Amino acid sequence: MGVLINIDINDFRDINPGERVLMGPGPSNVPARVLQAMSAPCIGHLDPYFLSVMDETQRLLRFLFQTENPFTIPVSGTGSAGMETCFVNLIEPGEEVVVCINGIFGTRMADIVRRLGGQLIRVDGEWGRAIDPEAVRKAVKGRSPKLLAVVHAETSTGVCQPLEDIAIIAREVGALFLVDMVTSLGGMELAVDSLGIDAAYSGTQKCISCPPGLAPISFSSGAMKALEGRNSPVVSWYLDMSMVQSYWGTERKYHHTAPINMIYALREALRIIAEEGLETRFARHQLNHKALVVGIEAMGLAMLVPESERLPMLNAICIPENVEDMKVRKALLNEFGIEIGGGLGNLKGKIWRVGLMGHSCCRKNVFLFLSALETVLKAEGANIKDGYLEAASAVYMET
Ligand SMILES: *Cc1c(COP(=O)(O)O)cnc(C)c1O
Repeated sequence: MGVLINIDINDFRDINPGERVLMGPGPSNVPARVLQAMSAPCIGHLDPYFLSVMDETQRLLRFLFQTENPFTIPVSGTGSAGMETCFVNLIEPGEEVVVCINGIFGTRMADIVRRLGGQLIRVDGEWGRAIDPEAVRKAVKGRSPKLLAVVHAETSTGVCQPLEDIAIIAREVGALFLVDMVTSLGGMELAVDSLGIDAAYSGTQKCISCPPGLAPISFSSGAMKALEGRNSPVVSWYLDMSMVQSYWGTERKYHHTAPINMIYALREALRIIAEEGLETRFARHQLNHKALVVGIEAMGLAMLVPESERLPMLNAICIPENVEDMKVRKALLNEFGIEIGGGLGNLKGKIWRVGLMGHSCCRKNVFLFLSALETVLKAEGANIKDGYLEAASAVYMET
């Protein structure tokens, strides 16, 4: 035997991250029930008990997506794996693909299309604003793209993209309609079937409040037909849904070992959502968002996105002049245990991204964040107006 590499076991302590208030762009706080479900015994991925857990998880996912699509499953991987799954299965080299881009995640979609050899048709919009459907109409004029892709909740800017008009355009040109619902699913109204969406993907760690690690997806019959009718094999072996389908469907054919305990967690997180009810959950996100914005504006700070285009679960706040982004975020984390996000790309140093996602979306967190932010900003010498807590309180009192 050769020389072994040694380690000192004393270098490795128990994992003990401490408590955080997760108010960034994800992950959100995970309910204890979900963590508890994860710690149930790991059993075989073809064990009859696990197969029933899979079936229930699919039923719960169809409820959350508001779809009857048989092929609705959690992909093994984070939200980005869900994104890649949709593109890699639904487009072939040389095919035209329209991607709407007004933030980081639209940019990422375009990158994937390029890597797959698709013919990219970009529809660019201002970061911090929704994309005008007329721009999409212009881009597809005289063309017949295979797929039209849009991000419903652009987490990099806090913009909500209305889907109805773009869905109509996709139908008119005969394109599959693909929607990124990573941040919006579980936090606002979204119905895959009634919107005519062909492919949707999400992630578990945003408004579903489950740890990161799975990407729920749903394919319509049109998307399944496109997959079956491919001329070339899906270039990713792992993400080839024609094979994964044989495991999640009735055949139960081994493809890869399902992440058993992650699926327990997702099932529990979905059960919590179903217990609360979708309408109640969406109203809760709207209410806490409204109180946060009223409080922020009463402080004298401004929101990046115009009111009619704002997401409830991701609030982009403009950083006041002469305030140092990192210093404030560090103080929030170190002194209050609150995590928020900074800006990405062109918005780096210009905005804070404050999440109110799933389990993190509550009145307690709104008040904690507002008062912690005041304390930190005042220490930085910023000019903060009084009365913001009363203003936020009034929003709850009205309801
Ligand atoms: C977070 C996010 C993703 C990527 O998800 P990961 O879990 O980080 O891989 C994709 N799209 C949007 C809109 C997101 O917010």
